[in-house]
Amino acid sequence: MTPASGGAARRASGAAPAERPRPASSQRHATEFVPPPTIAGPPVAPKPKPRPEPRPEPDPGVAEPTGALGESSVTLSVDPPGGALTISRPSRESPLRTGSSTAPTTGGRRASTRGRLGAGLVEVPVVPVKDPASAVLSDPAVGESKRFCNSCGAEVGRSRNGAPGATEGDCETCGTYFNFRPRLVQGDLVAGQYEVLGCLAYGGLGWVYLAKDHNVSDRWVVLKGMIDTGDATSMASAVAERRFLAEVEHPNVVRIYNFVQHPDPKTGNLVGYIVMEYVGGQSLRQLALSHHRETGRAEPLPIGQVIAYGLEILPAIGYLHSIDMLYCDLKPDNVIQSGEQLKLIDLGAVRQTDDYESPLFFTLGYSAPELATEGASVASDIYTVGRTLAVLSIEFSGYTTRHKYTLPGPDEEPLFALFGSYYRVLKRATHADPVLRFASAEEMADQLTGVLREVMALGTGRPRPGTSTVFAVETRTFGSGLVVGERGSLPSPDPLEVASILPLPLVDTQDHAASALASITATEPAELVAALASAPQDSIEVRLRMVRARLELGDLRAAQGELEAARRLVTDPADWRPDWYQGLIRLATRRPDEAGRAFERVYDAVPGEIPPKLALAVSAEYAGNYFAAARYYELVWRTDRAWVSAAFGLARVYLAQGARASAIEVLEAVPDTSSHHVAAQVAAIKTKLRPADNAAVVEHDLHDAARRLERLSLDAERRALLTAEVLEAAHAWLRAGRPGAAPAGTAARTLLGCQLSERELRFGLERCYRALARLAGTTEQRHDLVDRANAIRPRTLT
Ligand code: ADP
Ligand code: MG
Repeated sequence: MTPASGGAARRASGAAPAERPRPASSQRHATEFVPPPTIAGPPVAPKPKPRPEPRPEPDPGVAEPTGALGESSVTLSVDPPGGALTISRPSRESPLRTGSSTAPTTGGRRASTRGRLGAGLVEVPVVPVKDPASAVLSDPAVGESKRFCNSCGAEVGRSRNGAPGATEGDCETCGTYFNFRPRLVQGDLVAGQYEVLGCLAYGGLGWVYLAKDHNVSDRWVVLKGMIDTGDATSMASAVAERRFLAEVEHPNVVRIYNFVQHPDPKTGNLVGYIVMEYVGGQSLRQLALSHHRETGRAEPLPIGQVIAYGLEILPAIGYLHSIDMLYCDLKPDNVIQSGEQLKLIDLGAVRQTDDYESPLFFTLGYSAPELATEGASVASDIYTVGRTLAVLSIEFSGYTTRHKYTLPGPDEEPLFALFGSYYRVLKRATHADPVLRFASAEEMADQLTGVLREVMALGTGRPRPGTSTVFAVETRTFGSGLVVGERGSLPSPDPLEVASILPLPLVDTQDHAASALASITATEPAELVAALASAPQDSIEVRLRMVRARLELGDLRAAQGELEAARRLVTDPADWRPDWYQGLIRLATRRPDEAGRAFERVYDAVPGEIPPKLALAVSAEYAGNYFAAARYYELVWRTDRAWVSAAFGLARVYLAQGARASAIEVLEAVPDTSSHHVAAQVAAIKTKLRPADNAAVVEHDLHDAARRLERLSLDAERRALLTAEVLEAAHAWLRAGRPGAAPAGTAARTLLGCQLSERELRFGLERCYRALARLAGTTEQRHDLVDRANAIRPRTLT
């Protein structure tokens, strides 16, 4: 589109001030309120450019931004190859004002439950769709403190000796004309079609107007000045340059209808306007600010709500990427929530992916560190999404200065300590190395969805299961077949078994051996090794499949060899699959600390996934770090009850820490839809009957165990075995002098049909042993059980 000789070169000359120059004096002024944006790194030469048009300041009617929310776009123009960098002016500088209680509130509104917003996982307050006519400002004015000469940055239009400052005039310093009044007024007909109703807001390119489109059933439209220019030719070509925006059609992006020109009433110069859909609602910045005011202090938005916003923004950004466009200037100001929908407004910075010439618009604090040197990219857009979520969800002080390119750690920011998965999503999205960020908006959205499930499950106590796009589901469970030990402990499962049960990453369909792999039918590891060895192509997936087969065979050395072969084939530095398999091998070789480090890297890469947390949990368990193990198992178990391995793991580490009641609670919560339900209930019953550390069973435990046993559907042998266990425990309890006996009348009189007396319990046990003897598999076992029956039989009857 932009001819090689046009674009940046022309802009650099200053003839067509598409960049928004930011005069030095205005920067000085701004430091009184918010730190002025600066760019670190490569040589930067601010080049304020003369503009024929004055630059009014933000409309005082719009909620003022706080320090953490009110940054302004700047323009970066990379002059033709190797040229100097130019930073241009921001659109807004605003004082830090918190605690005001006059702003519109969002409280008391119906919360969104059915809309797409929140992915059905979280309720987001609905923002009423503002009636367009009522959104028009009655007295559009730019506050005096915000009036600066657009050319030299000097203060202009200020009151003097009690006389109000002029809204129009010539700069006393450099003589440039300024005018802070709206260019269009009510009744103006633009392009013979759009009847102006008034001003909606004041932005970086001047006033934003509401109008009615008389050509299309009087629909509401918004007119926003594109650039101001004194030059009709450059105006026309600037308009032409932005025409590609009319292609953008997405429910979460403002619709662009038209591009028109209209003469400035004062100068007669043609001014370009972009005509777009009216989006009534509030920007995320405004929503965050009103939230501050409701809570009476600077408090970020609830994390669930912020993630929900992320999940609306990402498809919009992803859509732009799919049509080879970059958004470039994402920040809370540029997203409006209207009803239950979010829309990106302000396509002023949108550019085509292959455009290396036109100036870049971006905002300090949100923009990626490599922007100045490498230009905009999908990765730099992903970065802005991460920063936007960070600013909305935490009290992010210093995000344009100390933390311009970094996030506070979990030690500084409690939210990050609480929601480690969320922190990791932000960390990956804003990684200093663009290659290590999420590769696409879709990938980030997938992970963010997983994190939302986790956050909501933790916050509400209700599991939020979901499906993964990168991991297979858990088909086997580890730790469920283990027998509760004498003192109520559960042994850890065999690491080799765990390593071959943990789920596998889904096969990458782009892998050139993917279809060959899919056609392999072998299930036995040895057959699989043979089949893979004769696979027509070598590929990462072939090698990784081999790693697992070798693991299952217990051949760890060969597994490591295959993994190294896989690593040599990896081309994407963000590929986390080798780390996953490395973790599995380290687990199997009983090096849980090293396994944990490998799984940490996987967790960093795919923070919304369950398997890395399960793997970290079991690694920590093997390392004897029960606290960490419990935390990870909990994350998994509380999010999705399908991961029964986590329930057994959690029970194990609770028991190891002496938290018997919690362990029993977890086991009992294994749902009856799980094939491990019975095993879990049995383990719970046994745990109840076998307290650790010489603690005694109390009467309540006995009745509770009996009731649970009665509810279970078990085969005859297992029922008889467990019944015997309960009665044996009761017998021991009786002989220990009935510790913790329930007060008379409060407990059930019988236990599995037996009175709680020596004689009755002995009869009960005798019946059990005889029943078991009938079911015994060998003569020896039968004799043994008959002996036990005879021994327990009350003597009075012999
Ligand atoms: P800039 O960043 O250049 O100042 P924006 O496009 O972000 O301009 O818009 C500034 C303000 O104008 C917004 O906060 C909003 O109040 C209003 N506005 C812009 N576009 C629309 C629109 N399509 N519908 C309704 N209001 C809009
Ligand atoms: Mg904007």
